[in-house]
Amino acid sequence: MAIDQDFFKNLKAVAEHNDHFVWGPGKEGDAAKDENVKADYEAKGEKIEPLGIHGTFVAVDYDDCIADGACLPACPVAVFEWDKNTGLSGQDQRQDYTDKSDPIRESDCIWCMACVTVCPTEAIKVDESLVAVHKTTQL
Ligand code: SF4
Repeated sequence: MAIDQDFFKNLKAVAEHNDHFVWGPGKEGDAAKDENVKADYEAKGEKIEPLGIHGTFVAVDYDDCIADGACLPACPVAVFEWDKNTGLSGQDQRQDYTDKSDPIRESDCIWCMACVTVCPTEAIKVDESLVAVHKTTQL
């Protein structure tokens, strides 16, 4: 489905998480249709709920993220860590396929676009001009 390129206009900042904003409400995205994601939610006895977008100028749509993990090692400055396996950033170091790539060091981004290129579901938007949006956003 891909991240909404205008999410910062169409959604609202609803929370802060690891020094970045979370934009909501979420949606039924690619994660809800992915067999690995569905199987691991089912194994945990949990429902897939809309999660929204993490980050503003490095933004990951958690509802499209299928925990592929390619973006984590692709980033030359280690912006991403696994949300549920804090501190880990290897492609296969997800807790399981309910995990998400979290832009935990958003402000370290050097705008190389590697993460955007490798993401199989186009779940990531990186846009330096949105630093200004980040600075003026309030909960
Ligand atoms: S654009 Fe480059 S530096 Fe920025 S988060 Fe993506 S991979 Fe990392």
